[in-house]
Amino acid sequence: MSQKISIPRGTNDILPDEIFRWQNLEDKARTLMRLYGYEEIRTPIFEDTGLFKRSLGPASDVVTKQLLELKSRTEDTVPDGESYSLRPEGTAPIVRAYIEHHLDKKEGLSKLYYFGPMFRGERPQRGRLRQFHQVGVELIGLHSFQPFLDAEAMALSIRLLEGFGVEGFRLKINSLGSHEDKKNLSSILRERLKKDVRNLCPECQARFERNVFRILDCKNKECRAVVARLELGDAHLSPPSKEYFQKVRAALDLWGVAHTVSPHLVRGLDYYTHTVFEISHAGLGSQDALGAGGRYNDLVAQLGGPKDIGGMGFALGIERILLAVGGGETRDEGRVTKLDAFIVSLDKEEETKAYTAAFELLNELRRKEIAADMNHTRGSMKSQMRAADKSGARYVIIIGEDELKEDIVTLKNMASGEQRKVPQSKLAAEFNKVSSVKS
Ligand code: AMP
Repeated sequence: MSQKISIPRGTNDILPDEIFRWQNLEDKARTLMRLYGYEEIRTPIFEDTGLFKRSLGPASDVVTKQLLELKSRTEDTVPDGESYSLRPEGTAPIVRAYIEHHLDKKEGLSKLYYFGPMFRGERPQRGRLRQFHQVGVELIGLHSFQPFLDAEAMALSIRLLEGFGVEGFRLKINSLGSHEDKKNLSSILRERLKKDVRNLCPECQARFERNVFRILDCKNKECRAVVARLELGDAHLSPPSKEYFQKVRAALDLWGVAHTVSPHLVRGLDYYTHTVFEISHAGLGSQDALGAGGRYNDLVAQLGGPKDIGGMGFALGIERILLAVGGGETRDEGRVTKLDAFIVSLDKEEETKAYTAAFELLNELRRKEIAADMNHTRGSMKSQMRAADKSGARYVIIIGEDELKEDIVTLKNMASGEQRKVPQSKLAAEFNKVSSVKS
């Protein structure tokens, strides 16, 4: 026997048994996005590696350790000197698309949302995958003064989680301030951590110069002890940045969005400025972030777009949301495709008349938008009825010798067990009366 080929580590198959949970989540998300005035955008799952280096920062963990770069056998696909990587996140590709398609000229404010797989070469564990999925939002437009938009994005992230049935999560927010304020924050952090550098893990010792913010969310025990002693506030913020943050908080209060200010929240990506936030769930263990986001006022210009355009966005991790919600509905309750009818055909041995008639009827029903299927094993009545039951169909159509002779079918209501004879020519009309697929 040939050796079997297994799924790559850190990735999942989503089987029909669980796909309804994904589809339900996507449906709810789409409904809410529409309610808040967002439109969907889809970008490629791979991009020029330079896009991520420039936006996330060459020293960020995602770029230094987690980018999955594509290799090609032909120069034609990945030309010499070029490099493509699977996208580790959605913001940079969307900002690239925003600039490329001059969306700034088309509308004042672009309100975009996306679903899709993201890829990071991380060490897999519960809640941490190499291919995972996000639903996210980007609000891109003039950045002059938009604290209300920051509040809207955060409120929407909360509304989505509530809509998905997640309970017990917490919204933490902070402000990094402008580019200059961020430099102040780096200096403050280095100054305060200086005496403790020896006590940090080797990785954080290297981060001290390269990416000091990242030390704040290192999971290492010793690093956490050092970080816990750090008292941080808003000393790095200039007066206008402080005022901006106050306005964001006031807007959150106006919409009744509960939040905690957490000065330790800095996010590891370079592009963030001003507001950053994270939503965590204690039930998820070490990978407790359900989602995160923030404002990025310099990113559009950094990627070659107009100077005065800024953005705000977030992404929620779908696998983690599903973990947080737990089992929830069973397959049958949540099932997305429910059949209207399942056809059972009964022939005398070696004959195929009823089976052929059933096959013909199947096509007719589907053309009339009646969700139908049939049994191809052509076993006993009992085994075919078992298959019908398993399919979840509301009605079973039985075609046997008698039915063929009289040009009728037997229609059985699977919920009530009631059974009656219906002329073939009236069958579709019967379904229009009873079908709940279209109702
Ligand atoms: P981030 O861009 O890292 O803040 O990611 C946003 C959200 O995506 C996180 O809060 C998680 O819910 C989810 N996420 C990020 N990385 C992973 C991963 N490796 N596996 C599963 N979910 C992830």
